[in-house]
Amino acid sequence: MKKPIKTILTAAITLSVLISGTAYAEGDTAAETIPNTTTVETTEAETPDPQPAHVHEWSDWEIIDDPECEVEGEQSRKCMLCGRIETEAVPARGHVWGEWETIEEPTHFKTGSAVRSCDYCEAEETKELEKRAFTSEEKKANNIVEKYLSAAKAYDIKKMNSCFKNQKPKLVYPSKRVVSTLKKGATRIRYEVKDITFSGNKCTVTAEVTHPDYYNDAKNAMKTAIKYYSSYKPDATSDEVAKYFIKLFKKRVKYETTTRTIKFSLVKTDGKWKIKTKTQDLMDIAVGYFTQGAEAAI
Ligand SMILES: [Zn+2]
Ligand SMILES: [Zn+2]
Repeated sequence: MKKPIKTILTAAITLSVLISGTAYAEGDTAAETIPNTTTVETTEAETPDPQPAHVHEWSDWEIIDDPECEVEGEQSRKCMLCGRIETEAVPARGHVWGEWETIEEPTHFKTGSAVRSCDYCEAEETKELEKRAFTSEEKKANNIVEKYLSAAKAYDIKKMNSCFKNQKPKLVYPSKRVVSTLKKGATRIRYEVKDITFSGNKCTVTAEVTHPDYYNDAKNAMKTAIKYYSSYKPDATSDEVAKYFIKLFKKRVKYETTTRTIKFSLVKTDGKWKIKTKTQDLMDIAVGYFTQGAEAAI
């Protein structure tokens, strides 16, 4: 009988070694190994619990700190038997958003924006409102303006003229002698259509246009030409003066530009949109105050 007991003892010692990590000498009694196999319970007892034997009887959770939109709150409950209190976080409530309000209406050419605010805190959220899509009518109206501006950029006089409903015969483009210079300057034309508004069969297209500005160059060239001929050849023909003016202009042109907001008045006739009237103002997109500059010197 002695042998099996020793075997059990050895097994118990081996087990205690595994648990406690402490080696025992052979011959230790089984009774001595028991406290070592119960280390887990001993450790728990070090954290004192008033009445560790009972199962807590908890009250309902009670909010002790209200959660905010973005900040957690806190709630607690109490054991009715031992008075122990447990607390835990209550999730943040999240914003309660009001309706979106438009700050800036979107146009066909620009996105808009809207804002909404929280009913409970200062939080605000903004969002972009997509550009308004063109109706087919708006597309047609916009096309005639784009056609005119692209024709001006190419200095295509025929195409520019075809965009107007009313041509005023007295409005003519500058002399052919200066076309190559004006053509070169026209390549600097930049434009962006900003808005389209309709009222029945009329429509206004607003564009921001950067175009050549020859005013000073033309004025200075004409001044010099006039001064020269009045001093040295007072009996010269006006055509001779003009030729010299153009020569000076072409030689000294600086290709300055100017940027302005231009409104195109459109009318619809026979189902087609056209620019209502040919005006110097619109022609100046391509010819850049050339005539006005020259005339200012006379
Ligand atoms: Zn309790
Ligand atoms: Zn909020």
